Amino acid sequence: MRYLRGVEPTNSDWSARHSVQAVALRTAALVNALSHEGVSPQSVSAVLRAHGEGDAVELSERDVAEMRAAALQVREVFAADGTDEAAARLNRLLSLSTGALRLTSHGGRSPWHPHLDRDDDGPWGEWLLASSCLALTVIVWDRQRPPGGVCASPACGNVFLTQGSGPARRYCSRRCATRERVAAHRRAKKIPDPAR
Ligand SMILES: [Zn+2]
Repeated sequence: MRYLRGVEPTNSDWSARHSVQAVALRTAALVNALSHEGVSPQSVSAVLRAHGEGDAVELSERDVAEMRAAALQVREVFAADGTDEAAARLNRLLSLSTGALRLTSHGGRSPWHPHLDRDDDGPWGEWLLASSCLALTVIVWDRQRPPGGVCASPACGNVFLTQGSGPARRYCSRRCATRERVAAHRRAKKIPDPAR
């Protein structure tokens, strides 16, 4: 089992910022941030900046509420049991919630890349759902595997992306895997767990 750090997109990397992997990493980070009830617009725009949105992103409470609704739907794709179910959930979102496939360069400010939302200036929730569906769809197509999973640690619940071709991961990070291994060891030895 490997816990590879993904490619970290940077503002200076004009074309990598729009790669499938970069969009997928941003998707997972946004789903995780937005899964918390009461997440602030500031923390969501910090995630966007960390994933290459150069301009200061001004999000309203309403934007965040729409993004959270989208994130909870995308989360269901990560939670799918196997490739067929992930594909079925993506197909449902693609038929209900996205526009036609189109290319945009945002008026020359970015490399040409595909979008599934209806308009470059559309609502943030629609953008999140469409960009997430697009990246996760390409990953299923390319790897013929589920695009990711949900961390098996009850204390975590973060989504993560499938990396490489090894066995399916259960935890989002080495940190969660270690914590659960220690907890299982304590249970086996009947040592009280101070964290629970
Ligand atoms: Zn975790």
